[in-house]
Amino acid sequence: MKYPIIDCPRHEGAYDCNSFCDVCEGEQRYEWTPFRMCRDCGTAIDHDTWFEELGMCLDCSNAYWNHDDEMERETR
Ligand SMILES: [Zn+2]
Ligand SMILES: [Zn+2]
Repeated sequence: MKYPIIDCPRHEGAYDCNSFCDVCEGEQRYEWTPFRMCRDCGTAIDHDTWFEELGMCLDCSNAYWNHDDEMERETR
């Protein structure tokens, strides 16, 4: 089974991913698969969700952004 190669969502068109990108590891693109693992908790989620949440499941994505807000409030 061969899947298409698509652009990495993390560089958002800038093609500036480096080897620390956990999606493409600097390749700027990666192989599309119907399901992918959340990079945080490892849960298999469908690709569209994974793509929109930049590699995370909805739970981890929500937690991530909520955590970000808290951090900002703390440093101000
Ligand atoms: Zn990337
Ligand atoms: Zn997750």
